[in-house]
Amino acid sequence: MVPPSTAALANVLEISTQECKIDHVKVLEAKPNIKNSQKSASRGEYKCFLGSFKTPLIWTNIIGLIILHLGAIYGLTTHDYINKWKTVIYGFILGGISGFGVTGGAHRYWTHKCFKAKLPLKIILLVCYSVAGQNTLKEWVRDHRVHHKFSETDADPHNSKRGFWFSHVGWLCMKKHPDVLRKGKTVDMTDIMSDPLIAFHVRYWMIFKLIFCFIIPTLIPPYFWGETWKTAILCNCFVRYCLLLNFTWSVNSFAHIWGNKPYEKDIKPVENKFVSLVAMGEGWHNYHHSFPWDYRAAEMGKFLNCTTLWLDLFSKIGWAYDLKTTSPKLIRTMIEKHGDGSHETMRSRKKLSH
Ligand SMILES: [Zn+2]
Ligand SMILES: [Zn+2]
Repeated sequence: MVPPSTAALANVLEISTQECKIDHVKVLEAKPNIKNSQKSASRGEYKCFLGSFKTPLIWTNIIGLIILHLGAIYGLTTHDYINKWKTVIYGFILGGISGFGVTGGAHRYWTHKCFKAKLPLKIILLVCYSVAGQNTLKEWVRDHRVHHKFSETDADPHNSKRGFWFSHVGWLCMKKHPDVLRKGKTVDMTDIMSDPLIAFHVRYWMIFKLIFCFIIPTLIPPYFWGETWKTAILCNCFVRYCLLLNFTWSVNSFAHIWGNKPYEKDIKPVENKFVSLVAMGEGWHNYHHSFPWDYRAAEMGKFLNCTTLWLDLFSKIGWAYDLKTTSPKLIRTMIEKHGDGSHETMRSRKKLSH
């Protein structure tokens, strides 16, 4: 484990206070806690996913996820999808809608406050997020803020130092580490707790989830183009839902393990094109952890980044506004001083010097 470069943190810290109103300053201040994590890991308490874990498992989640994945595999391998092209296209559209609820809504809007939204857009994001059928917004935002604040420590809910499987799905199959709960309390959630729209959504979360994630999307194919009930249920409730969850989780696993680090080499998050493709632009994760306030979550804002495309569209009609970005100067400084040299400009500079 390489501790984060204090110079890099100080550099970002200094400029982020000017550029961004949200408390990412606290996020960066907290990073030195990584030391505590190492101590605990070295006691051998959490060696591997199926090995010497002493953490109690959550069997209802494990059984539910096994059924979901078996159903998805059955659905994916037993249907003639060429003849069912309408349902396939519908699945992609539904995937895009639910994905946007997670990336544009839960992540970039509610967690990071990367932009401001007018009421119609807030409602759209809330409905899209309901189609995704994930945890309550309160849990999602808290987990993600803790993840940024205590990245790769025991307090990180999906600490990637505990291995690929833990950061991908294992963390949902077992009780949280006590540090996640303890240090989670230090995360500022006042904006979320005081939002009446979120309070309403959290209160009726299960009803929203049932209606928008499972019931309505399943009713549409049989009603509009005569799809069989079996296919409609398998495609929506298993294949689409399972893929969406895995694509979301891939940001915590793949994008914390495999890829390059052009902006900050001393942190674990990486740039991963595959994740960006399936997670609508969330795989530019080294950039995102370096500049978490940036609404594009990437330097090349629109490349493999459907979320940014949608947000730009909403900003054109004025429903998204005050979109935060990062100054090219700060990006340049990070690339030159703290990146791993894999940024395109650094590579072409090296070529020229040879
Ligand atoms: Zn991350
Ligand atoms: Zn984030």
